[in-house]
Amino acid sequence: MRDGLAMQARSQPAVPFGCPTQERLSRRHFLASCAAGAATLWVGGTLARRVLAATKRTNLKEAMYWRSLPGGKTQCLLCPNQCVRGPGEDGLCHARGNRNGRYYSLVYGIPCVIALDEVEKCPLNHFQVQGKAFSLATAGCNLTCKYCQNWQFSQVGPDEVPRAYDLSPEAAVAKAIEQRAGAIAYFYTEPVVYYEYMLATAMLARRRNLKNVMVTAGYISPEPFKNVLPYIDAVAFGLKGWNEKFYQEYIGCELKYIKESMQLLAQMPEVWWEVVVLIVPSLNDRMDEIAAMAKWLRDVAGPERPLHFTRFRPEYRLKTLPMTPAATLTRAREVAIQQGLKYVYVGNLPGHEGGNTYCPQCGKVVLERVLFTVVKKHMSFGNCIACGYKIAGVWQ
Ligand code: SF4
Ligand SMILES: [Zn+2]
Repeated sequence: MRDGLAMQARSQPAVPFGCPTQERLSRRHFLASCAAGAATLWVGGTLARRVLAATKRTNLKEAMYWRSLPGGKTQCLLCPNQCVRGPGEDGLCHARGNRNGRYYSLVYGIPCVIALDEVEKCPLNHFQVQGKAFSLATAGCNLTCKYCQNWQFSQVGPDEVPRAYDLSPEAAVAKAIEQRAGAIAYFYTEPVVYYEYMLATAMLARRRNLKNVMVTAGYISPEPFKNVLPYIDAVAFGLKGWNEKFYQEYIGCELKYIKESMQLLAQMPEVWWEVVVLIVPSLNDRMDEIAAMAKWLRDVAGPERPLHFTRFRPEYRLKTLPMTPAATLTRAREVAIQQGLKYVYVGNLPGHEGGNTYCPQCGKVVLERVLFTVVKKHMSFGNCIACGYKIAGVWQ
């Protein structure tokens, strides 16, 4: 891992890693943006004591959700890809594989990213914890997004990432507590593919009063999703767009499975979740699709479900596309609000008014943000100070 590179979430808002220069920023916004970047850089470079040699980066742990097939083959049932593999072969996600006729997680306890982040970076604007989130990610992903921000570790196996660390679930929880984190975030790559590591860590974290945050694209079979959610406090759900063809051509999966995961989440009121859509110019930025997406979300998950539109930055195989114009993000936000959603955000665009939380009743700003940091609060115990309206979310 090149230090710092790890800090941009896979298909998440292309977080301005250093100090943003593309936008005109006020001095206050500029300094806060730089500080946010610097804070996360520190941990990835120094936290883990033991960096694993490249030859020792596969750590076998028998996988959950698979079945045996004739001839020593196995079928993974964790996600809709349902990979069938022979002995010695790895799944499409690079994080799981058949070894001598049994199926294993290859990345258990060997994250390639360790960081300390604001929980807003996930992004979660309505879920507060005491302290920061201790973020983990391993190699691999079950999607093949052509604009992945973290392709150096999401599109490879554990022996191909630039760096990996020895960090058992017990050690991860201990480190999170040592760092005074309030949560563990399964972040940066897709946690579905390191399901066993996430589940074990989340169960231990829950016992130590840490929250668990899952940052996922939701491409997972219903049963494993249902079985991990009781240990998850919040989900940042990376929705890629609202077009089946786009999903198949640019993401490598089908939108129908993603909708099923959101429908499942909508039936679990104990899990807080927010939806984030990275808007890619010319690919998923049609306003009729955005309106249909917002309407569906309102009908399925209610008008208080937060929706974030974030800015694309040219990356990986889509380097020729421009950054998302600010006007497109502004328009997308307006369209989603017109569909009845009460909390719609613009992300990865410091200084944009859509980064703040507004009271749906009186319109006042209740949480003013600079990038990922709340700089002013006009809310008390989750209620708007001006009019008393209860702002949806999980508040400290
Ligand atoms: S989790 Fe990985 S190995 Fe399992 S079905 Fe999905 S892509 Fe294949
Ligand atoms: Zn109000």
